[in-house]
Amino acid sequence: MQNNKLNLENVILTNILMILFFALMAFLIIGSLKLPREARGFDEDCVELDTDWYMIKEDGSREKIVPPLWFDYPRNVPFLVEGTLPEIKDSRQMLYLRSSQQDMEVYIDGELRESYSTKDTRPFGKASLSANVFVDLSEEDSGKTILVKTLCPNEYSGTFNQVRIGTYTGIYSFMLKRYGFPFVTALFLLVLGLINVIVGLILQFRYKFAFSLKYAAWVAIFSSVQGIVESKLRQFYFPNMSVVGAVSYCVIGFVPIVMLMYVDAVQKYRYRKMFRISIIIALINVVVNMVLQLLNIQDLFESMTRSYVIFGLALVVVVTAYIMDLKNGYFKEIVIPYIGVSLTFLMGALEVVSQLIHLLDVTDFFLNIGAISLLLFALIDSLMQVADMDKEKQKAVLASKTKSEFLANMSHEIRTPINAIMGMDEMILRESSEEDVRGYATDIKRASENLLDIVNDILDFSKVESGKMDLVLEDYSLSELLCDINNIIKVRAEKKNLDFSINADESCSLKFYGDESRLRQVLLNLLNNAVKYTDTGKVVLNVGFDKSEIGLGDDEVIMSFSVKDTGIGIKEEDQKRLFTNFERFDMNRNRNIEGSGLGLAISDRIVKLMKGRITVSSVYGKGSEFTVFVPQKTVGSEKLGNIKDRLEKDEHEITEYKETFKAPGFKLLVVDDVAMNANVIKGLLKKTEIEVHTALSGIDCIEMCKKEKYDLILMDHFMPNMDGIQVFEELKKKNLIDCPVIALTANAISGMKEMYLEKGFNGYLSKPVKPAELEEMVSTFLSGKTDQK
Ligand code: ADP
Repeated sequence: MQNNKLNLENVILTNILMILFFALMAFLIIGSLKLPREARGFDEDCVELDTDWYMIKEDGSREKIVPPLWFDYPRNVPFLVEGTLPEIKDSRQMLYLRSSQQDMEVYIDGELRESYSTKDTRPFGKASLSANVFVDLSEEDSGKTILVKTLCPNEYSGTFNQVRIGTYTGIYSFMLKRYGFPFVTALFLLVLGLINVIVGLILQFRYKFAFSLKYAAWVAIFSSVQGIVESKLRQFYFPNMSVVGAVSYCVIGFVPIVMLMYVDAVQKYRYRKMFRISIIIALINVVVNMVLQLLNIQDLFESMTRSYVIFGLALVVVVTAYIMDLKNGYFKEIVIPYIGVSLTFLMGALEVVSQLIHLLDVTDFFLNIGAISLLLFALIDSLMQVADMDKEKQKAVLASKTKSEFLANMSHEIRTPINAIMGMDEMILRESSEEDVRGYATDIKRASENLLDIVNDILDFSKVESGKMDLVLEDYSLSELLCDINNIIKVRAEKKNLDFSINADESCSLKFYGDESRLRQVLLNLLNNAVKYTDTGKVVLNVGFDKSEIGLGDDEVIMSFSVKDTGIGIKEEDQKRLFTNFERFDMNRNRNIEGSGLGLAISDRIVKLMKGRITVSSVYGKGSEFTVFVPQKTVGSEKLGNIKDRLEKDEHEITEYKETFKAPGFKLLVVDDVAMNANVIKGLLKKTEIEVHTALSGIDCIEMCKKEKYDLILMDHFMPNMDGIQVFEELKKKNLIDCPVIALTANAISGMKEMYLEKGFNGYLSKPVKPAELEEMVSTFLSGKTDQK
């Protein structure tokens, strides 16, 4: 409500502001048009000199001419034009002439009054650069003859521009009015170009994508510099005309180069060869022009013809690429930037037309307008690309989220039936004495364990992908970790007749602070691989540590776990891709070995999360060594000591199941909507003689708790209608329980255990339930009351 009100206020305020603004602008325009001038503005006193001009030929004869004119006249021969001055009423009057690449001398009644030449000051070149020439006048000059003598080494030798007369302010006003706007446009374009170079770089850095914008910005910068140095006002800003002229002719050579680079980028380098070749030709042209000028062989001005040819070539390339793109169906992609490109060429054509009309009065104004439109459309194109990328990114994030959620759900859905399979299978193994049946059940056990590993990998993978994998840091004992690993791997190695041993540095600390379960996962993965991919020989785990690395805290060490095998090895070319998702190698040899190709990718990510690294060295056919380096915090000063004895003592044979305790008379309630899973728990606890009741829904559970007093409740989390947490809360609210409640779930996402404990559950068991874990958990909560064996 508050927000709506605010929005409404904003709309009203904006509208009032807009109305006021437009009213003010209308007042400004109408007032300026209708009301009389109150202060002096531009001085209008600047007119064409009204006289008959005569060209004096070499033989002394005179021929009437009308400026501006440009005709064929021998080079390096003085060109003389004579006229008569009108009555000069004011001593503030002056003449304004233009030299086009000519040395110029102006005589009034035979007296030299003004001269312009760069002959003694230019660093190189044969001609003086075009410039404005001003001649001061006085009343005495009224009616006198004026003689303009020009000398030029190139085709400008036959040009004579209009001559203007006026007061100082009149002439400057005229120049400002006529050339000021193109000059300001060029300056504006320069600023715009520089800003867009920066914007292009920021976008490139932010989106890791090479936008074509920066090339358009360079087109703008080069055009603007051209506009500035070609301006008729240049002599007011730059003292040395020759320098300005050299820059101008070079810059014009760069324009087609950056233009081609821009269009090449717009077309995503589809026609790279064509563009590259023309860019190189254009670049060679610029360099050649510069060298010829520096060696005084050819003036930059004279090389302009070649530069025009290059412009033509650029135009042909751009049009060809455009037609090819139209044919290949890329129209949509290039339409926006090409509007800018077309406008630039259109403006280029207008520039040529305007130069033809205002002969000898070039401003580059249209070129600059063209560059502005090029830049504008390039900017629009880049912003549209950015918007597309953002959209794609959002889509990708959403897709990845959906994928992760799907994988997590699938993993949950798959774990639930595996729980039943493994549980029931365990019961067959416990209860059957028939050799064949036990054999089948053992195979089921192996296969379901494999299936579970794959499901776990996929879940981990989805967690890593979505950045949801967090480390759970706790104190742990290295010797216990090694004993667990030994117990698991030893059995697997022995089944393949492989030797397995663990060597550990005795001076290593015993206790550490870190994520033991993730470390165990990585080591088990490497060791399982070593066993999987080794047929004869041995697998060794070497444990060491290094304290010397720089940047480590006092209580930090770099632990190294190296897993070495004498297996099939990995080809050199495959080693680089080892840690890539879903990659498996040497499939001819490994076809029968189960695996998803995810284990190493996950291990690598986990180790990176721990700020460590995994290295591989392998000789194909001889064996491999994977080494994990991880920084770990040590806890206390106790040392690991001799691990061999510990491992031996801890090794226990997989013996037939024997219950660890009996608890007759105790009542346990299993709440699970899947009857088979409830029965699994019942079956697994059968030998403990606990009386196990089952409830197939939350409502059932509440009803049963009203009637019966239980010693322990195992509560499934995900159930229809009321989930485990809601049931638990309801039981507490209604005061129906005073026994421990353990959460049971197939949701194996990290952080779950903490979540359940926080909700008030006394423990947490993940599905598929491991029989030993279940018994241990139950016995812990019933201890004191149980008849321990
Ligand atoms: P998988 O589930 O296929 O074992 P991993 O990511 O753990 O997936 O391993 C990827 C691939 O790397 C394996 O398919 C195998 O080709 C190769 N590989 C991993 N460890 C070893 C090893 N110790 N010896 C030989 N090849 C190995």
